[in-house]
Amino acid sequence: MELSPDHALVLFSGGQDSTTCLALALTRYPRVETVGFAYGQRHAVELECRVSLRARLAEFPTFGARLGADHLVDLGASMGAIGATALTSEAEIAMTAEGLPTTFVPGRNLLFLTYAAAIAYRRGLRRIVAGMCETDYSGYPDCRDDTIKAMQLALNLGLQHRFVIETPLMWRDKAQTFALAEEIGGQALVDLILEHTHTCYRGVREQRHAWGYGCGACPACVLRAEGFRVWQGG
Ligand code: ZN
Repeated sequence: MELSPDHALVLFSGGQDSTTCLALALTRYPRVETVGFAYGQRHAVELECRVSLRARLAEFPTFGARLGADHLVDLGASMGAIGATALTSEAEIAMTAEGLPTTFVPGRNLLFLTYAAAIAYRRGLRRIVAGMCETDYSGYPDCRDDTIKAMQLALNLGLQHRFVIETPLMWRDKAQTFALAEEIGGQALVDLILEHTHTCYRGVREQRHAWGYGCGACPACVLRAEGFRVWQGG
């Protein structure tokens, strides 16, 4: 199948970053599909957020007509077999001897991109949009720009197509990601992100802060809270 040059597949987890990426893709491209991954996350809340976020984004002017199919890939058994991490088990969130947090799932983004490219191949979508970010993450090696560029090359060779992997957040910190959301969809998009995206590693939805829901203490909450504070000029 030929790839449509301006059709896109967005890796969409239901978090702040991937929601911003999805909104951005919906402003740029006339056809946008989404893919999500179930991999035995401790908390299914992320996957539930995806569905309501897609429905709410479709209500924005022009987005509804552009938003296409959603694909959910169940990697539960295979990721579970890779072993315990703090995202897939009740292990504590802490730093390991290698300097990586225990939330690191080895090779997760490499797997995600490979599955995404296979779906994009079948669906004729040339652009693969993903929220990886090197700026203020925890040093996950599979979020790095070099890794993503190498994956693009490997996938293009291995699938014999010219995919373009776009990572619009690669060099933005969380404050700049809030700013980008405002630029794309104004306060309505910021409000949607605050109210309906999920980032907290512990899956906490009971506590609502100015920056959204979460425990307020895990690394993901700390980053999001700090980014919101900086963006607000606090
Ligand atoms: Zn948290």
